Amino acid sequence: MRYSELLLPTLKETPAEAEVMSHKLLLRAGFIRKLSSGIYTYLPLGLASIRKVEQIVREEMNRAGAQELLMPMVQPADLWKESGRWEKYGPELLRFTDRHDRESCLGPTHEEVITDLVRRDIHSYRDLPLNLYQIQTKFRDEIRPRFGLMRGREFIMKDGYSFDATESGAEITYGKMFDAYHRVFKRCGLSFRAVEADTGTIGGSFSHEFMVLADTGEDTLVICRNCSYAANMEKAAVAPPEKPGEDVGLLPLQKVETPGKRKVDVVCEFLGISPRELVKTMVYLADGDPVAVLVRGDHEVQPVKLKNMLGAVDVEMVDEKQIFDITGVPSGYLGPLGLDIPCAADREVAAMVNFTVGANEKNYHLQNVNLPRDFKVFQVADLRQLTEEDKCPSCGGELELTKGIEVGHIFKLGDSYSKALKATFQDSSSEEQNFVMGCYGIGVSRTVAAAIEQNHDQHGIIFPLPLAPFQVIILNLDPKNQEITAAAESLYSQLQQEGLEVLLDDRDERPGIKFKDADLVGIPYRITIGKRFVQEGEVEIRTRADGITQSLSPDKALTEVVSAIHDGMAATWE
Ligand code: ATP
Ligand code: MG
Repeated sequence: MRYSELLLPTLKETPAEAEVMSHKLLLRAGFIRKLSSGIYTYLPLGLASIRKVEQIVREEMNRAGAQELLMPMVQPADLWKESGRWEKYGPELLRFTDRHDRESCLGPTHEEVITDLVRRDIHSYRDLPLNLYQIQTKFRDEIRPRFGLMRGREFIMKDGYSFDATESGAEITYGKMFDAYHRVFKRCGLSFRAVEADTGTIGGSFSHEFMVLADTGEDTLVICRNCSYAANMEKAAVAPPEKPGEDVGLLPLQKVETPGKRKVDVVCEFLGISPRELVKTMVYLADGDPVAVLVRGDHEVQPVKLKNMLGAVDVEMVDEKQIFDITGVPSGYLGPLGLDIPCAADREVAAMVNFTVGANEKNYHLQNVNLPRDFKVFQVADLRQLTEEDKCPSCGGELELTKGIEVGHIFKLGDSYSKALKATFQDSSSEEQNFVMGCYGIGVSRTVAAAIEQNHDQHGIIFPLPLAPFQVIILNLDPKNQEITAAAESLYSQLQQEGLEVLLDDRDERPGIKFKDADLVGIPYRITIGKRFVQEGEVEIRTRADGITQSLSPDKALTEVVSAIHDGMAATWE
């Protein structure tokens, strides 16, 4: 491709709306343009990178025995009513009515559609297992679309669904997908980790998320330094706390004045105690109903654990004003004694003695509070967020917390959808059985953004070779010079004959602009042809990732770049 013919509108300034690097660089490097909130046009280079991810995904899915199909984006409400998700899915599901008053939605995921397809066409165990996938535009009306391709409303996903006759068969399929996902992200050239993930309220299932490691990730991963345990923070179990010794006596309850002291640190300093001796009372709305959660002063509630314990669809922390409206107590003085909303406690709290809580009265706290002497809770459970001080729930080893971006999610679903949609087959003894299902997603467009979050510097993107829109860029520093231009054109066609993806910067622009744009766009190899070629017959090759340069004859440069690219691509294969 010739740069002079390419739609590649790079920007000098970073658009103000972009907060994270991938969003800034995707805009600046001319990869995407925003149409409206969370909705983007993929320009030629953006699309090229997306296609690279798609191709890797496709090859690995096919290699693992899955088959590609393409389902409609518009889905009838009836199917969602059958599965029960029409009510449950919430406002992320974009619903609309057509001219015949039929309700429909834009597909955020396709469990209903695929289960409907399979229940119509597959009737015997002989046709199982079946593993189907598509690569398609999804729509989710995200409450806060942000960070460009990272969290869009419209985005490209690979979604796959498997159908097995037995639980054990479904586990084998799951294992194949787990391995295939490892190969996908390795072939994308990314540094990643598979972690155990939350399975929500569907019992007996399991799930893994594939996380690209990047400081800017929205997810926190818990990784054991000692064993293979790795989990998403939402899922990571906290080891049970130690019980207090037998000889710890319960002291009499005491009300103390704490004028204007509301925050944990301030209250603790005022009372001369540590946050480990105080219990915070947090209020949440679970599907609209208020519930209080008690955690130690230095701990945080993990909302997903709370949601699972309650079997709720949605939990939301309330703000100070809502706390007052619900409890009649000003925030900062809330406590479990006499509180008239249901109250649950983290396990750590149940193991504490003589602790401090708010007195449900402005400017007062209670000390030497004890469970169950002074109040009752309806449940004690692991409800808090794990911290770096906690030990590995699997081996007791040291833990490390690190940030990641979820690019893939695999899920053993069991028969929840096949039951709801009455999707059955005949087993070998002619009994009707529900299909045992799994589902497997990859955020294709998010993977491109995650690759950039992980690989960039102050000058621009540093694409992993397998995802780069072009593998090599040739800079013709003086298109008016015939000698230089002839050498550039010749290298251009030779590299193409070698099967490489080459961009030739043949624009009538200053060298400085060409260097800057090449760095910004992040193409892994650059060949520069300028004065030195006229004087010494040499061109310069430079690797974007490490900035190493070499001056060579055009022939040597050609062999060098061709073998570097072949080796680089081969290294991503297992
Ligand atoms: P998240 O927790 O980030 O909202 P999710 O768990 O809802 O994602 P899944 O339903 O597991 O997402 O979808 C499969 C994959 O699709 C995710 O792993 C992610 O990579 C991608 N994805 C999900 N939502 C978005 C989005 N709004 N924009 C871009 N990619 C997305
Ligand atoms: Mg997910």
